[in-house]
Amino acid sequence: MIVMAHIFFFLLGSAIGSFLNVCIYRIPREKSIVKPPSACPGCEKPIRPYDNIPILSYILLKGKCRNCGTKISIRYPFVELLTGIFFLFLYRQFGFTFELVVFMIFLAILIVISFIDLDFQIIPDILSIGGVVLGFVLAIIRPFFRYLDPRFGILDSLYGIALGGGLLFAIAWLYQFFTKREGMGGGDIKLLGMIGAFCGWKGVVFSLVSGSVFGTVVGIPLMILKGRDSKYAIPFGPFLSLGAIVYVFKGNSLIHLLFKILLRE
Ligand SMILES: [Zn+2]
Repeated sequence: MIVMAHIFFFLLGSAIGSFLNVCIYRIPREKSIVKPPSACPGCEKPIRPYDNIPILSYILLKGKCRNCGTKISIRYPFVELLTGIFFLFLYRQFGFTFELVVFMIFLAILIVISFIDLDFQIIPDILSIGGVVLGFVLAIIRPFFRYLDPRFGILDSLYGIALGGGLLFAIAWLYQFFTKREGMGGGDIKLLGMIGAFCGWKGVVFSLVSGSVFGTVVGIPLMILKGRDSKYAIPFGPFLSLGAIVYVFKGNSLIHLLFKILLRE
């Protein structure tokens, strides 16, 4: 039974991942995410259902369109695999609970935001602000599922939104005011507001700190490689998202561990 559930959530995740690919491609291009059905960007022929099986079709087609041979980006099966793995681990973490649904939605939005931010250095409001609203609405419902521990409610969500959106906006504004340089972008602040809506203020702090660490670890070698005068900014959204995902899975135990180490010193 447990094995079946694992397989089910992996397959569900990879199917959702297939839809996330559509969102990643279409939302920044301001196209509808429901129609028309997926087509090959090369020959514009609609993709047949049997060529649209997550992960598997890419392997069977050897990464090329069946009709015209246009190369299909490895990113498509990657996003499907990633979403599948995340959903499987979310099931392991939360079991068959309402929290599972909440965090499947949360991670799905983070994946879409991250890849759009990588491509276009923007985070569309429909995702970030939409995520704030959705996270808050879900926080109203979450306390009714009493088996929840710890119980996450409206106030947790509100504090998270306030810290993620409000306080960080103030910091970014002050930074810009004094240095005349843009620090954190508006999109990142709205993203942190959304992280707060789903994870509370602790999740905001955790994502900001760990996201900065990830960003530095990846960013410094990249800056050396590309030359340090490069205005080519590395988007912060994917790192914040990664921080938030680590928080969902391991946040509490990592915070405990950190305090243990700090108090012993
Ligand atoms: Zn084609």
